[in-house]
Amino acid sequence: MLTAIVNARIFDGEQVLSEQTLVLEDGFIVSVGGAVPANASASIIDAGGATLLPGLIDAHTHTAPPLLRQALLFGVTTELEMGGPKSASLRRLVAESDDMADLRWAGFGVTPPLGHPHELLVLIEDVFPPGVVEPSASTPDEARALVADNVRQGVDYIKIMIEEGTVMNHPGLPMLDNDTLLAAVQAAHDHGKLAIAHIHTAQAARQAIDAGMDGLAHVYIDQPPVAELICAVAASGAFVVPTLTLIATMMGNAGRTGNTGSRLAEDERVTSKLAAPWIDSLNTPMNTYTQGHFDDVLAVVGALHQAGVDILAGTDVSYPVSHLGGMAHGASLHHELQLLVAAGLTPTEALRSATSTPARRFNLNDRGRIAPGRRADLLLVDGDPTTTISDSLSIREVWRRGVRLTPQGAPPR
Ligand SMILES: [Zn+2]
Repeated sequence: MLTAIVNARIFDGEQVLSEQTLVLEDGFIVSVGGAVPANASASIIDAGGATLLPGLIDAHTHTAPPLLRQALLFGVTTELEMGGPKSASLRRLVAESDDMADLRWAGFGVTPPLGHPHELLVLIEDVFPPGVVEPSASTPDEARALVADNVRQGVDYIKIMIEEGTVMNHPGLPMLDNDTLLAAVQAAHDHGKLAIAHIHTAQAARQAIDAGMDGLAHVYIDQPPVAELICAVAASGAFVVPTLTLIATMMGNAGRTGNTGSRLAEDERVTSKLAAPWIDSLNTPMNTYTQGHFDDVLAVVGALHQAGVDILAGTDVSYPVSHLGGMAHGASLHHELQLLVAAGLTPTEALRSATSTPARRFNLNDRGRIAPGRRADLLLVDGDPTTTISDSLSIREVWRRGVRLTPQGAPPR
């Protein structure tokens, strides 16, 4: 069926267009601008001046179908899972289910025995299927084998851990030696996959860049901006997914107050869509690194952005348990947009970080933009988030592959 959305302010993933009409059919965008087709059966939706955006992409989550359903309620149409037990069959199920966000995944990250995230996983064993054992690698050969096994299982990219544990309140975690790290990056590239480094310190960021990583999951949070390191990240071409929502909950209310997820838990636009465990989770900061300075982290992200580094919006939201608290699927991506603006991005730049930029960096060439031929993954919000970023939460409609989400979830295709 043909659907036309008229009288919309259209942010196409890069900028606001002069056109105000969008036509979609069979899950894809047919045209932007021009006349409304003279088709008697076309469904016409008057946006009344509301803002139409590409569906949002959260570039760092740990997820499952119920969580993907929640994400879609907030206009997040794609989640990029950054580590955990998933399968190709689940991936196919999600691809065909228009009542939840779509999924890309990393499989298990490359880490040594008892390395990160083992210290977290032992606390949430009940969320993993019985018998799932986190694989590990201690040598270059084992790293190559782990990457190859992930690729066989159909992963989209490779996650590699560089985590000593202090910011998780678990100092002294085992880490990959540099030869094993280099072998993992090389193996990812040999298989045509992005190599994405988990880092939280300046030292780890330096090691990741020297190893040739394509992207950094998180940002360094133990120091103010280091000009030489900022330049090195920019020169490498790597993207950065700062996950400011995660860092705010790790730091609790240290430094600048009011940055944790409890800010969201006061917003009726958020609480009306969340079950009680998620509201509790938003109100429970992790507090694993309260000695950190959130203003320094905002300055690092601002400096990376000024240096031309691609910044991607991602949250690291996972499960509603207290030691992973401060975040909720879907809702927290809007929080991340607000924190990126606090770091110095304009609202339009923040919106790019959740649409066109992750689509470009993760080769998701069918989404992330409003343009003919792209998937009709769309979000309609009241107000104008290209000037007032918090308007992104004033959600009126969500479409996934052209299927309009209803309060009861999406109808069957
Ligand atoms: Zn993560």
